[in-house]
Amino acid sequence: MSEMFCFQCEQTAGGKGCTKVGVCGKKPEVANKQDELTGAMIGLARAAAGKNPGQAADKLMMQGLFATITNVNFDEKRVDEMIAAVRAEKAKLDAAAQDFPAADLWSGNEDIVSLRSTLLLGLRGMAAYAWHAAALGKTDPEVTAWFYKGMKALGDEHSAEEWLGLLMEFGQVNLKCMGLLDDANTSAYGHPVPTTVPTLVEKGPFIVITGHDLHDLKQLLEQTAGKGINIYTHGEMLPAHAYPELKKYPHLKGNFGTAWQNQQKEFDNIPAPILYTTNCLMPPRVSYADRIFTTDVVGYPELKHITGEHGKKDFAPVIAKALELGGYKEDQHFTGINGGTQLVTGFARNTVMGVAGTVIDAVKAGAIKHFFLVGGCDGAKPGRNYYTRFVQQTPKDTVVLTLACGKYRFNDLDLGEIGGIPRLLDMGQCNDAYSAIQVAVALAGAFKCSVNELPLTLVLSWYEQKAVCILLTLLALGIKDIYIGPSLPAFLSGNVLNILVEKFNLHPITTPEEDLKAILG
Ligand code: SF4
Ligand code: SF4
Repeated sequence: MSEMFCFQCEQTAGGKGCTKVGVCGKKPEVANKQDELTGAMIGLARAAAGKNPGQAADKLMMQGLFATITNVNFDEKRVDEMIAAVRAEKAKLDAAAQDFPAADLWSGNEDIVSLRSTLLLGLRGMAAYAWHAAALGKTDPEVTAWFYKGMKALGDEHSAEEWLGLLMEFGQVNLKCMGLLDDANTSAYGHPVPTTVPTLVEKGPFIVITGHDLHDLKQLLEQTAGKGINIYTHGEMLPAHAYPELKKYPHLKGNFGTAWQNQQKEFDNIPAPILYTTNCLMPPRVSYADRIFTTDVVGYPELKHITGEHGKKDFAPVIAKALELGGYKEDQHFTGINGGTQLVTGFARNTVMGVAGTVIDAVKAGAIKHFFLVGGCDGAKPGRNYYTRFVQQTPKDTVVLTLACGKYRFNDLDLGEIGGIPRLLDMGQCNDAYSAIQVAVALAGAFKCSVNELPLTLVLSWYEQKAVCILLTLLALGIKDIYIGPSLPAFLSGNVLNILVEKFNLHPITTPEEDLKAILG
């Protein structure tokens, strides 16, 4: 018998499943506790059926799902606390409601396990987005209710048809959730504007902040103002530079490092603390473990954790560590993976729509022949340089939209411009897939065609469960001919994959040359 089972991310062992220890570093005890937590949340959803579960239960539902995303929480004690809290809440609603047996989550008919897992993993991804929106005071009753509906559905029997129906319904709800987070971020911090972000780290004390939570960044900026400490984003925090209410802080200086999988190398002996607000945390090396701080749902045994409700966090220990370490003695000139020294971000929906007329004219005049959305997660496994080579080989009369951390493969490249419009447009974090969808729908409206008829191809890279919920949204919108890589999800059984390929013409990536030829003809 295996010690654990997990196949939720792209780096799963042997492309099948982690059974002894996670490739991500997740230990069997933690994996099994996470399964127990998932079973308890299905129990909570059962107990909540037909009732108004209340804010405490809503929060636990989102938190528990978010905590089980890859590279978020490795702390068995914290997962235990969540299990206890979920069970206590369930008892208030219906003490007789049964948890779903954790051992049954990954067993049974292969196709049903595949469909059930796909829904569970999508829900985990959506929970992260709902959590960030809630931090900024935005919730949507339909989104919240769907966590209960989806979790309860995981514990019930369904035909394959019914599972597919649930997945499509979920995809639509996740679009609402991403829209909710877009609204939360833009209401609080304004619409992103094009912004050039240096990769230089100036001498003196600094803090690196990584993850997705803009509200944590805002608090950190406020608490470090005037203290002689500079703030650098890392990973998915890069797009924060483009929000007017964040970029107004002069000590938000630049971006440090590249995507998450390089952190053990990039943080080695760094003379500054690193604050993790969400995924993606890798087991830290001794050379920098003493300067890591986690917050919110993120957890790792023995790392320092900043607690506090949303809106009231005290980052004093992080600030003290920054002053103690003192930063670099001289300015440090870092580059992106292709040698570039600056990154440009801020091309979210408002900015792109603002130049829609120019874009439409350029398409009509034949100056822009095709759009690519090359987006998604980065990762450690070989083969991801496909995305660098793909972008490098896109013809000069094409535009590349991008989002999420997979862009670090090419976001330091200068692809030039077409009629004043940069050829590479960074739309933001993975949740800003919402922006990309809005732009595609607007373009389709302008050209009086469907999104599938636009000269637009989606070339996605996936790693973890947020990519799963985004993919389900794209499929639920009927978007076809998506290219996906670097490998296919282990949780898709052969039959389920066949259905997706037949229905949506999903393409596994091959080589940039072959795929570009197939796309552009
Ligand atoms: S999250 Fe990925 S690497 Fe970690 S245990 Fe699960 S499948 Fe393995
Ligand atoms: S895009 Fe995905 S893999 Fe990359 S940091 Fe965000 S959540 Fe993690």
